[in-house]
Amino acid sequence: MKKTYSIFGAGASGLYTAWRLLDHELENKEGAAKQLKAGDVLELYDWGDYNFTETYEHGKRPAGARVCTWHYENDANNSYLELGGMRYSAWNGLPAPKNQGHRLVSTVIKKLDLEQFSVPFNVSDNTLFYLRTKNMYLNDITSTNPAPYNVDHYGASDSPDTGFATIETLAVDPNAPPKTRREWCEFYQNGAINVELPESSVYQKGDLLKNIGYWNLMFDQLGSEGFAYTADGNGYTSNVINWNAAVAIQANDEFTPGSQYKTLTTGYSSMFNALFQAIVELAKEKGIILEYHPNTRLHSILQIDGVIHYTLANRDNPNKKTDSKTTDAAWMAMPPYALDLVAQATRYQDHKGLDVLNHERVQNYLSSAIQQPSYKVGMFFDSPWWLSTPYPAPIIGYEVTDVVLAQLAAEGFPDAYIKAIQNNPDQDTTNPIINNPFSSSDDLINAAQTCTGVRLTLKEESQLLNAATRNSIGPSITDTPIRQVVYFGNNALLQNPQKPIYGILASYDDEQFTSFWEELEYGNNDAEKVPFSENYQPLRGPKKATDVMIKMLRQQLAALHFGPQSDYEDVPVPLECKYMDWSLPPFNAGYHAYAAHYDVCDVQDKVRKPSQMIKDADADIFIVGEAFSNDQAWVEGAYCTAESVLNDFFGIKPLIDPIPYPFICPCGKTPQP
Ligand SMILES: Cc1cc2nc3c(=O)[nH]c(=O)nc-3n(C[C@H](O)[C@H](O)[C@H](O)COP(=O)(O)OP(=O)(O)OC[C@H]3O[C@@H](n4cnc5c(N)ncnc54)[C@H](O)[C@@H]3O)c2cc1C
Repeated sequence: MKKTYSIFGAGASGLYTAWRLLDHELENKEGAAKQLKAGDVLELYDWGDYNFTETYEHGKRPAGARVCTWHYENDANNSYLELGGMRYSAWNGLPAPKNQGHRLVSTVIKKLDLEQFSVPFNVSDNTLFYLRTKNMYLNDITSTNPAPYNVDHYGASDSPDTGFATIETLAVDPNAPPKTRREWCEFYQNGAINVELPESSVYQKGDLLKNIGYWNLMFDQLGSEGFAYTADGNGYTSNVINWNAAVAIQANDEFTPGSQYKTLTTGYSSMFNALFQAIVELAKEKGIILEYHPNTRLHSILQIDGVIHYTLANRDNPNKKTDSKTTDAAWMAMPPYALDLVAQATRYQDHKGLDVLNHERVQNYLSSAIQQPSYKVGMFFDSPWWLSTPYPAPIIGYEVTDVVLAQLAAEGFPDAYIKAIQNNPDQDTTNPIINNPFSSSDDLINAAQTCTGVRLTLKEESQLLNAATRNSIGPSITDTPIRQVVYFGNNALLQNPQKPIYGILASYDDEQFTSFWEELEYGNNDAEKVPFSENYQPLRGPKKATDVMIKMLRQQLAALHFGPQSDYEDVPVPLECKYMDWSLPPFNAGYHAYAAHYDVCDVQDKVRKPSQMIKDADADIFIVGEAFSNDQAWVEGAYCTAESVLNDFFGIKPLIDPIPYPFICPCGKTPQP
């Protein structure tokens, strides 16, 4: 009997599923019957139409769904900005659980031969803030120069992220914090307030964090001004909404030093181009029939008499079904809003069979992911004007990468020094220089001298500093609606010394701030012509900003870099300005966060195959993606849920060892070596 497997969604989780269905080892013989063989069909559907080839194709959007790399003038050789997902936390490949990082993304990048394009994503350690009309740098915030907030216990004399640390210490012993994925999963289930709190506090020792809203807890413990300072100064409003406090504490632990972020010089979308190419080649090699259907959406799905029946709709009329088909297994690789649109098609109808998506327990667990709208606006300029302003972006930093070492070798930098810098004496920890950001030239020179054991000459110092200089990323943070500015700079693959182009995210904002920009998507006298539910801008790709939006952006960029009395004309007119509005369908969210009052371990386990929640039911309908993962807001979550479904329901051997790195929370289950 020939098999058909159907994947709905060609974003991160859908492409990863297709790739692994075509390329894996089996865990045991029992899994063999479930694998696709020559002549079987693998269907891949997507509502949108992505540009999966190397060059820009008219009418197609950059690949990656909630990842979307936008190049200046749509030319892949030019400078680019990331208008969706942009970076990953690099894993050093060492198996011990304490090694941090996104292990599946790092592995995919390696296996697809993209590591050659991987470079550090430099996060500034002296952020520029513009809060309550005061411009200030992180390192200048002191008790004599506090941030303009009336925070209790001198809280405004310190970094705004101190608020996160204060909340964390209510539940986490600083001498024995959870360090591994397994320990954090255990924390999500059992983490509780472990210090005595005054009687006046709403929360008391012993209260379980999973049943507390994070905003509620922050407000109770930090007060109105303490909350406002942390919320404003963090940049991501999505971090301080009323989500599951246990998960929030882990996620905000990110803002403590230690994570090494990386990105791809070919743009983050290029990972999805490479995945798609690998899928096409593997299917051909194995004689599996790959049917890719862009511009086609899953309309409804039911299991009738043990067979999965689904209907489809075309992109030009997405609400009306056009076709009905059956399949042996279905993956819904899409976010919660899109899932609900599918559920709605059968929710109000009499029909035969099992309606997995509309079962009460499934609906309850699907409600555990809060939708978090986000918004990015990109601008390209012919100069990096933000470096020469009264409040320049503090983004000059240094980073030694393999590319930097190759450049040094070509310039005649002594071979023995290069080897000493490459050499990592302690193989169990990351290299002290390679891929580590340094914010001061002295620190880098000192580290290099410690490694080489010699004093560098002036010429060698200058060679090292020149090759390692990075004037990109940031971010700068403000409480005005642009919220975060991220400096991508001149990152063109093909450098053009005659016409360098410099890009910034003029705004990276989320939650309520997205609605600020939405009204500016129209001219001042324009009337709305399209219902919100039918505005599919994210599927069409980066959209040209209106003049009013650009003026509003320039006003706020001017205040951030030139001070509150500045004029919008201090900021030059951008050469190009486009936005992605991630509050629009079919995503309606840039990312998701678990609500309080849910056991997130059980959610992750059950949502993958929702029929597990229905008595006497067993339907091979799977839900994969970032939203119900252990790494929400990251591509890693999309890959991990997809991998866990293939391991646990299709007998596929895990891509990497899951014992030190469980793909979803193990819910207290003991690992089987
Ligand atoms: C602004 C922003 C910043 C981010 N920053 C980062 C970052 O720096 N690093 C990082 O790792 N992640 C980041 N993320 C998150 C990351 O982009 C997502 O977690 C990841 O891309 C989600 O993949 P997915 O497969 O779960 O879903 P999606 O990418 O949403 O893919 C779902 C696909 O399903 C399709 N679809 C929807 N409905 C249907 C239907 N009915 N039938 C068929 N197809 C359908 C959609 O068209 C889409 O192609 C960011 C996201 C945003 C928006």
